[in-house]
Amino acid sequence: MPSCPTCGREVSDEMDFCPYCGGRTRPYRRAAKEVVKEAKILTLKKLALFLGCLLFFFVFLPALLFILIPMIIVIILLFIIIIIVGRFNVLLYAHSMCREKSEY
Ligand SMILES: [Zn+2]
Repeated sequence: MPSCPTCGREVSDEMDFCPYCGGRTRPYRRAAKEVVKEAKILTLKKLALFLGCLLFFFVFLPALLFILIPMIIVIILLFIIIIIVGRFNVLLYAHSMCREKSEY
């Protein structure tokens, strides 16, 4: 059992403050622990950010490009085909109109 640095009475190891006088029972040890904890969290956050960036640039972006580029090409080809077929249909329609008119 550690004793309170302010009043000298014995206090529980679990307590940060003395229940008799209200003073801090272990100000420095706790603070150091918290600093280490924060530093660990910070490094973890940095690592997560780094891994996220790595994942994004080397996995997500190529995958996206790998999917997007063929999709864009297919869409452009579809548009070209639709435009060509549309013109062809218009020509066919015009031709059929001419034929119908000439039949009368
Ligand atoms: Zn005390």
